[in-house]
Amino acid sequence: MKDYQICKKCVCDSSVSNVSFNSDGICNYCKIHDKYNKIFPPLKVFEFKKKRIFNQIKKAGKKRKYDIVIGVSGGRDSIYSLYLTKKMGLRPLAVHFDNGWVSDIAKKNIQSAVKKLKIDLKVLHFPKILSLYKACLFASVPDVCLPCSIGVGSSLYQVALKEKVKFINIAISFRTEGINPLKENYCDGRYFNYIMKNFSKDNIVNFNKMNLINYFNYIFIHRIKLIQLPYYLKYNNNEIDKILKNELGWVSGGRHHFDCEFKPLSSFIKWKKFHFDDRRICYSAQVRENQMKREDAIKKLSIHPSMNDKVLNCLRKLNITQKEFDKIMSMQPKSFLDYPNYYSLISQFKPLFKILSKFNLLPESIYEKLFKV
Ligand SMILES: [Zn+2]
Repeated sequence: MKDYQICKKCVCDSSVSNVSFNSDGICNYCKIHDKYNKIFPPLKVFEFKKKRIFNQIKKAGKKRKYDIVIGVSGGRDSIYSLYLTKKMGLRPLAVHFDNGWVSDIAKKNIQSAVKKLKIDLKVLHFPKILSLYKACLFASVPDVCLPCSIGVGSSLYQVALKEKVKFINIAISFRTEGINPLKENYCDGRYFNYIMKNFSKDNIVNFNKMNLINYFNYIFIHRIKLIQLPYYLKYNNNEIDKILKNELGWVSGGRHHFDCEFKPLSSFIKWKKFHFDDRRICYSAQVRENQMKREDAIKKLSIHPSMNDKVLNCLRKLNITQKEFDKIMSMQPKSFLDYPNYYSLISQFKPLFKILSKFNLLPESIYEKLFKV
């Protein structure tokens, strides 16, 4: 077992996959964060409007009803993306993928934002979606949010295709949630399909539109570009919260991502079974961005995710008995590498992915995640 070490700058420690430390005790995730800050210096809205990417979005939207499709969960980052695009004079279409775990607060936040900003909203529901989460638990993988990752990607590309929109936005950022290690956050269409076929009784038709052929169709034939607006913009959580509360009546759901009611169970499983606290990556990002004090993050992380009422509610909702859950927790931990996936294929095309990221067809962050962490 390797000696315990924690980064002197953030709170990434030896428990984080693929972590390494330089001679000054600074981790490789801090290094990637610094690199992103150079590539994506935090801009004000008027500065972003002078960027080439902004003009590309405007130009692609000409003669169309919408300029950009924005994925919304009801949380701070996605609602702020909606707010910003409207402020920039863009015509966004909001798309909400209902993963079956959306809190009432998040639902109200979405409704209130689209109403006040006068933005069209499309909501995608999938009956029986909960069985997909159950399948991930029985597959014994840490990527328990796989159905949501596939569902969000699939929904945004499908709507963009239908509405002939050339840009989609997923509001995630290295500044707020950090750089997630690949091992605990892998997602691809083949991996998803295998797990669903082997561990779920329900086959949801038209759910997964993220296989390789679909994906190449989106980016090469229809040239739909995925961007992450929060990468470009100046970001201060407290200031954003104030703006959203005052102007849109937005209400915070508590901890980051807690607009999703599956989060207590996913955090508990990741910690108890995979010995990985998913808050560590997020807090590290916030420490680097001076949004949280390092000592406060360490203090919060000393209290581990536990089996509380929220976790029990998730199990009840999934119809998982205590006996079944004990079985899930005692199963040998696996990863995406134990199942068929596209990763080896993707690895062979590393130079192609580099080119795609250069031309904004694939966010730099996805390239970095696939090949660096
Ligand atoms: Zn660090």
